[in-house]
Amino acid sequence: DLVRYHPTDKAGVLQDRRDHFGGNLSLTYNDPVMLVRGWKHHLFDEWGRPYLDAYNNVPHVGHAHPRIQSVAADQLKRMNSNTRYLHPAQTAFADKILSKLPDHFEVCFFVNSGTEANELALRLARAHTGARGMVTPDHGYHGNTTGTIDISAYKFNKPGGTGQADWVELVEVADDYRGSFKRNDPDRATKFAELVDQAIERLQAKGHGLAGFIAETFPSVGGQIIPPPGYLAAVYDKIRAEGGVCIADEVQTGLGRLGHYYFGFEHQGALPDIVVMGKPIGNGHPLGVLVTTKAIAESFDNGIEFFSTFGGSTLSCRIGKEVLDIVDDENLQDNARVMGARLIDGLATLKQTHACIGDVRGMGLFVGVEIVNPDRTEATQICSYVKNRMRDFRILVGSEGPKDNILKIRPPLTIDTQDVDMILWALNQVLSEVT
Ligand code: PMP
Repeated sequence: DLVRYHPTDKAGVLQDRRDHFGGNLSLTYNDPVMLVRGWKHHLFDEWGRPYLDAYNNVPHVGHAHPRIQSVAADQLKRMNSNTRYLHPAQTAFADKILSKLPDHFEVCFFVNSGTEANELALRLARAHTGARGMVTPDHGYHGNTTGTIDISAYKFNKPGGTGQADWVELVEVADDYRGSFKRNDPDRATKFAELVDQAIERLQAKGHGLAGFIAETFPSVGGQIIPPPGYLAAVYDKIRAEGGVCIADEVQTGLGRLGHYYFGFEHQGALPDIVVMGKPIGNGHPLGVLVTTKAIAESFDNGIEFFSTFGGSTLSCRIGKEVLDIVDDENLQDNARVMGARLIDGLATLKQTHACIGDVRGMGLFVGVEIVNPDRTEATQICSYVKNRMRDFRILVGSEGPKDNILKIRPPLTIDTQDVDMILWALNQVLSEVT
């Protein structure tokens, strides 16, 4: 104890964390960063050094947005309570969300996280169908609770995972770079979708009915994958034909990040029955939202009260609505489209000179760069090197994918031209060290 570090010293915080937190609470970067201030897409460490946040998709409208600070402070001064009392902020938030969705969505549920929204989606699908079985793409992630881990192959299939539940069937993720059907195959969307037929049959052979299908509309932890257009529409047709409910997890893709679309399912020409939102919708305040049809909400209204103490609190509703208003007022969806195109174009140019870039894919500010070995296999170590070197250049990017070889770039939607050019410049430098 005599050699205790000063509590705000990075090494001391790291040591305290190791002493008092679980070992599986992971830290990014070999030399972790400590961040104490933020502004838009910039972060500052304990020395005041700036970092470009090209990774965090939660501060959707930017870190420390003055309008979010102002509504949060205003509401906390007035009062903060739950959905058992009337408040216009609840209905105003619901109206705003529904204004962004097709008319068949009429009912909102407010919870505290993406996990909770997906957990609730499972309950709704089961209440509506009376069945238990779920089909979901491999390598998906939907949350950290018992129920959502069972539908998250990314978790249950890891060493130490609980394994695949009897009522879950996996389909190959619609990855047309590495998967069974490649980009040069014009029928790849249909071929990937047909895999769902066998999954439903396998469930039925085990005596399970079909409750539904859940997928990240663009699989993110699976490696920033953009399914071929029409894939989800074809899958949803098959699921509905067997009586199942189609759940679109838009936690990573929703609210304008894709630039061209407000939600990923629009790109797929698909209409889900349930849409799940999380992460960006509270800009850092814990908030999850599920929207669904009247019919499904009525099946769920089966005599048991639904209540979440904090879900749909006055404060949460004010913050959530403010986030969606800011996206509109600051034209952030448009900015995501323009900046995303600049970034993706630049990355495609880097691909021509750096052999370790196997694939560049993305839409708006949802971008993946697949790092490969000379034989095109997944270059996990090079990807880790690049991610850590980018941190030396004070640019924060992540990595993802089954083999952790896909650089993941998904900054707040406020990012500007110079920031995009800085990412490209630094990446060119770092890649020159490995190719
Ligand atoms: N769905 C997806 C697609 C996610 O990426 C995440 C979080 N990474 C979740 C659900 C779970 O959200 P939360 O961590 O807010 O519970």
